This record gives sequence, structure tokens and C-alpha cells, in this order.
Amino acid sequence: MENRHDPAAILQKLISYNTTNPPGNERECILYIEELLRRSGIESTLLALDANRPNLIARIRGSGQAPPLLLYGHVDVVPTDGQSWNVPPFSGEIYDDCVWGRGALDMKGGVAMLLAAFLEAKSREEELPRDLVLAIVSDEEAGGKYGSKFLVENHAEQFAGIRHAIGEFGGFSFYVGKRKFYPIMVAEKRLCWLQTTIKGSGGHGSQAQNKSAVAMLGDIIRRLRPLRFPAHITSAVRTMIEAMADAMRPPQKRLFRQLLHPGWTSTILKLLGDKGAMLAPLFYNTANITVIQGGLAVNAIPEQIELKIDGRLLPGFEPADLMKELNKVIGYELEYEVLLHDPFPDAVNLELFPTLAAILHEQDPQGVPIPYVLTGSTDSRFYAGLGIQTYGFLPMDLPKSFAFTELIHAANERIPVRALQSGAQAISRLLFR
Ligand SMILES: [Zn+2]
Repeated sequence: MENRHDPAAILQKLISYNTTNPPGNERECILYIEELLRRSGIESTLLALDANRPNLIARIRGSGQAPPLLLYGHVDVVPTDGQSWNVPPFSGEIYDDCVWGRGALDMKGGVAMLLAAFLEAKSREEELPRDLVLAIVSDEEAGGKYGSKFLVENHAEQFAGIRHAIGEFGGFSFYVGKRKFYPIMVAEKRLCWLQTTIKGSGGHGSQAQNKSAVAMLGDIIRRLRPLRFPAHITSAVRTMIEAMADAMRPPQKRLFRQLLHPGWTSTILKLLGDKGAMLAPLFYNTANITVIQGGLAVNAIPEQIELKIDGRLLPGFEPADLMKELNKVIGYELEYEVLLHDPFPDAVNLELFPTLAAILHEQDPQGVPIPYVLTGSTDSRFYAGLGIQTYGFLPMDLPKSFAFTELIHAANERIPVRALQSGAQAISRLLFR
């Protein structure tokens, strides 16, 4: 097989470009991809808000029997500062049957799979049932201003007629007990970053003060626990949990089904231990205090403390809902300012899900594909604004012991070579279906 269709070799090359964001500097990496495509006769368009941070769009025409499909991914990565790696993080070395390096999982590995499948599609163009649009973007990790947000706001024409896309986050295998699942992301929670000020009485640092802003902050932190928020069962989460329960054996099956009764949700999550903690954000709007600012002098009790809160909304909820829930949980009537909230449509379109599930099932009859709601957020929110439904479909058949979620954004990020190859094959199958 020609080297350029080997996703592992492509990934090694992608990792070698240091695209740590900030500042990103994705240009060289994008130019490599442009050249890779050109060698197979595919011309690309580069669109940029900042010349150092371009985005690439390429197309292959199909017969038009099926609607066009968007494949998208990002080449920027998160920093490696302060992490201790076994290999230099931008070396892209292969050992222990894995490609190692920053971005191996998030998401240069996925980009390598998409590229390998896209190149393969070009070589069998005449069999292609639909147009394919490939978008490789900058700046996903720091908000998308130079990447998908820019493309969607300024070059929507590039995506005309597209209703479905594949991208991160999903398709990797994970286990609950002995059961192997393949989550395919179909919806995600939304960012709702808030700011608020706690006001209390100030005074001299020698006083015994219990109505100070600091004392109030103590109360707030003590009360602000995720399971004290009201549980909500959204339709996408219901579909996900029901699909998981269906694949389980009786005791666990019953527990999972009971998660869907809001009165029981928090109790069941506690019973589920670590797995419960992982699942909890699917049932709650969450809020974490991430920045605390206040106080200037060591001998003066500050009158006010400013908080920044990383809030995340379930599909269908608005910032005002979170503010109300927060005040109820913390027992203070605070006023909030919204720092960031991307409104995005909540209608989930599952049209392509059965096809994706069938492909995964053919490749691995042991695994159960399930629709999945991501508790974080990806570029899919921008494409959703154009009416495009994203499915997280970067298939990775990972060994049971592989700590996928712990390696993302962490030291020693790596991906098994076999998972890359079978993932690229699964994507190829989709493109010709
Ligand atoms: Zn990512």
C-alpha cells in the first residue's frame, strides 16, 4: 500500500508540527495536508482570519445519489507544559504498537484517519455516491475564532446543502463491566461561563468577621456539589442510557434504567461509584468555580470577591435556568453576568446513526454502538448553526486496559496503530455507502 494512505505515517507527520494552541501556528501543518492532497490530484482552498492560522477545505465530487457529507477535524493541540512524557511530545515515534505524541487522540489521529479515507475515496471517485467536503481547521481548542467559527460565519457557502458531518468526539470503544460500547456523539452540552460578585462586610483584619465575602465564599463552595442540582432527563440522554441498559445484564440493566427517574438519579449515580461520577454531568446543568479574585492587603477583609464559573448546560436549557438553579443550591441570591454562551439548536437528528452503527457492528460484532451526549464541547456547535448534524465518528477499537479519557490532553498521549488503520477503514466504508 502506498505510504500516503497509511494513517499511521500521516499521523507521525502531523504530530511533528508543533501546533500548540495558544498560539496555534497551524500554517505549516495545514500546508503539509494541502501538499498531501495535491499529490493525489485534490485541490484545496485555504481560508484564514490570520495567515498563520489557515483552514483547509477540499472536495471530491460523487454521483449525487446521496446527500453530501462533511468530514472535519482540527490540527491544533493543547499545551504540554509541565507534563512528563516518555517520548518528546512532537516526535510522533512508534513504539509498543502505538503512535506517541501530542494530538495522537485529540485529534490528529482522527485527522489522519479522515485524510486516509478521503485519499482512498479520490482513488475510487467513480464509485462515490455523494460529494465529500473535507474541512481541516485551526483553533478548536481555544474557542474556534480562527477556525470553525470563522468558516461558518464568513464562508457558509462552502457548506451549502450539507446536513450531516462526521468529526470528533466518538467511535472509541469503552467498557462498562464486560460490555464493550462504541459511543457515537450526537449532541453535546453547551458552554455557559458566568461571572458574579460576592459582597460582604469588610473591615480590619484583626476583627472576628462572619459576614464577610470570604465567609460567604466558604458557604458557597461547601454547598456547590453537582448532585445537589436538580436532575434532568433530556431526550438524547434517555436514548443513550436506554441503549446502554438494553445491552446489559439484569442487576446493572435495572440500575441504568432507574437513572432515568429524576427522583432516583442522584442515588443511583452514587451507587455506580466512579462510573456514576463520569455519567453525572449528563443529568445536570453543572457549575464549577474556576477563578476566584479578591483581597488586596493581608490586614484588610475584602468587601467583595469576584468569581468566574464554568457552567455547562444540558440541551434545551438557557443561562437563566442555570442561574436560578445555582442560587437555589448555594442559598444566596447572586446576580450573574454571562461571559460566554454559544446558542445552538438542540434538535438532534439521528438519520445517519443506523448506518454508522451498522458499520461499527460489522467491524466488531462484540461492540454495541450507542448514541452519546458529550459533556464537553467541540466545533460541532458552529456547524449546528448551519443545520448540520455532527456525529462523533472516529472509530478506535482500543484494548480494554487503554485509558482513553485519561490520555486526552495529558502526558504520553498515544494511539494504537491498529486502531488507526481499522478506524480509517470504517470511515472509508461510510464514504462508499
Ligand atoms: Zn479535539
